[in-house]
Amino acid sequence: MDDLFIRLETTDSQMPSPSVRQPPLRISEKTDDASLQVTRLREDLERLYLVTQALWQMVKTATGATDEELQERIRQIDAEDGRIDGKNTEVTRPIDCPVCHRRILSGQSFCLYCGAEAEVSPFRHHGH
Ligand SMILES: [Zn+2]
Repeated sequence: MDDLFIRLETTDSQMPSPSVRQPPLRISEKTDDASLQVTRLREDLERLYLVTQALWQMVKTATGATDEELQERIRQIDAEDGRIDGKNTEVTRPIDCPVCHRRILSGQSFCLYCGAEAEVSPFRHHGH
């Protein structure tokens, strides 16, 4: 599986310039690409679960916090965006530069136009 990823990434980084005509992908190739991306996302997710579990075990041991307290904290954070729906869209909401008021791209913590730093949550990420 890793070999496949490495080969694909190498291919990606050697993409020809847009002026080079490429035959359009066949539908089956597009489907393969999409299912590969889903596979990679699942693997990333599994890894995140493991890291989260390890961190939680360490926090529990160090602080004596309980699973019930964790559940309650998750509920509080979920509710921050006004809805209890298993996600907090507050961290994906677009924000504007505090100095020039232009939109700051998701995933960025500073303004691409004027360089001002924005106060953003460390959990800010690309929305879906
Ligand atoms: Zn700015």
